[in-house]
Amino acid sequence: MITRTVPFVQAPATTDWRVQLKQAIRDPNALLHALALDPALLPGAEAGHHLFDVRVPQAYLARITPGDASDPLLRQVLPMQEETRQVAGFTADPLEEAEHMAAPGIIHKYQGRVLFIVTGACAINCRYCFRRHFPYADNTLSRRQWDTSLEYLRGNDSIREVILSGGDPLSAPDRYLGHLVQQIEAIPHITRLRLHTRLPVVIPDRINDELLDWLGSTRLNKVMVLHINHPNEIDEAVQAACTRLRDAGVTLLNQSVLLEGVNDDEDVLEALSERLFSAGILPYYLHVLDPVAGAAHFMVDDARAKQLMDALKARLPGFLVPHLAREEPGEASKTRL
Ligand SMILES: *Cc1c(COP(=O)(O)O)cnc(C)c1O
Ligand code: SF4
Repeated sequence: MITRTVPFVQAPATTDWRVQLKQAIRDPNALLHALALDPALLPGAEAGHHLFDVRVPQAYLARITPGDASDPLLRQVLPMQEETRQVAGFTADPLEEAEHMAAPGIIHKYQGRVLFIVTGACAINCRYCFRRHFPYADNTLSRRQWDTSLEYLRGNDSIREVILSGGDPLSAPDRYLGHLVQQIEAIPHITRLRLHTRLPVVIPDRINDELLDWLGSTRLNKVMVLHINHPNEIDEAVQAACTRLRDAGVTLLNQSVLLEGVNDDEDVLEALSERLFSAGILPYYLHVLDPVAGAAHFMVDDARAKQLMDALKARLPGFLVPHLAREEPGEASKTRL
């Protein structure tokens, strides 16, 4: 029997998000140690880490209960042996996104809106993510690629909304983002700017003055779709970041992924919706897991998913019930179940 002292997980020592990003835990052993977890978890963690790196910033780590191997936030970031399992139907590119590249970094699948892949980098590596196998590198688009992509937007007046995505678009520098948004808003037929990001949740200090400068001043209507899976992810710092975003005129929505051992529970999903609304965020989608290789152990079957939705509908007002959805290659929109 090994007895150890429980290290105290502290709030980040700096408010600079770039420093917090650099100081994120990138090593399975360090992660186990920081949370006083059983060293017996190490071989599995290393095996998963070899397939998709560990990455956990301090601000997120601080919301995980030390010593609890089944913590719902830990489960999202700790690699496990199960990731090495090959399961039929779980593939590297389940969304077949590679086929929808309209221009460098632009995925145009649905009418009126395009995804603009700003960067492949993320502040956290979520174990269930389809990005674990994504072909593009962590760097942002080059100037020339950028021009080609903007040309595509200018030439298609059916496009009304540009969705900055990634990776996590907010892992790009504000100067880069500010300049990009200036180019986008100069296109008259574009009215809406959407961001799909987990950064305000993972490193709330990302919502700083530099960001609010470019985001707050654009003529475009602004929507931010956050990615929060469990109520414990919303702490005071996240709430404060949301308030700043709302004050800058940003509509806040949330998408979650339905994950076994994280949020496949009526009480957890109900608490999540309540907590989201308290932070000024409306639930948008609850996604069924994309069948990505290495994530089969997170799968919740459709029957259970529908059961959970029925429970939510019975407990919550309609505007706090997310749409249960799945992405199916070739469809004109996400499929609602
Ligand atoms: C999910 C997605 C969107 C956005 O879909 P909404 O239903 O509008 O949220 C747009 N483009 C692509 C390629 C997507 O995968
Ligand atoms: S794209 Fe989103 S879900 Fe995937 S690793 Fe990055 S933050 Fe996590």
